[in-house]
Amino acid sequence: MSSNLYPGLLVVISGPSGVGKTTICHALVDRLGAQLSVSATTRPAGSEECNGEDYLFLSAQQFKQHLDNADFLEHAQVFGHYYGTLAKPVIEALQAGKIVILEIDVNGAKQIRQRFDRAKMFFILPPAPASLSDRLNTRRRDAKTVIAERLAKADGEVRFARESGCYDYTIVNDNLEDAINQIVTIISKRCFANQEKEKPQND
Ligand code: 5GP
Repeated sequence: MSSNLYPGLLVVISGPSGVGKTTICHALVDRLGAQLSVSATTRPAGSEECNGEDYLFLSAQQFKQHLDNADFLEHAQVFGHYYGTLAKPVIEALQAGKIVILEIDVNGAKQIRQRFDRAKMFFILPPAPASLSDRLNTRRRDAKTVIAERLAKADGEVRFARESGCYDYTIVNDNLEDAINQIVTIISKRCFANQEKEKPQND
């Protein structure tokens, strides 16, 4: 599928757990008026998470029903739970000319790359591996075993991002504001280029 079909722009943000993806995505919503896609997941909600805002928290059966109906744009199993992007709201927003942000893992990103050749894909890197461990421990959402699992997966994700050619940009989050600014600049340039293309030619 070509994203040329839609006037909007699909933006993918991936990166290891604890790298600051969610904070970056919310800043992009504020700075660019972008729409953040709410993923469906079978993982249990954290105590501070809100159903319908942070995720659509589904039972395994509900998730399977969506799979059977081919409702997902992409889906993947991450840390033993299913996660997926429901196609309908994303396609509708792209049709309406919006910037739509997907915060998804590397397997989901691979599927999006195949379907949307003009999606802008970013992989966020930590300044140092130790910073991931610090962040995961301080946010206090996950048990120690879950944190260990998330850290173990980080190396493979970073390797995939570097070697797969799936991502257009890697951004090091050593300073949050700088990382956000870099992404905003890239997306704004891309949107400006699109607007220029769409301008009527007078001569
Ligand atoms: P968390 O449980 O920390 O919220 O998310 C775990 C991982 O799942 C993160 O890497 C996150 O980017 C990824 N993820 C969240 N939603 C989706 C989704 O809809 N699809 C895919 N493929 N990955 C997702």
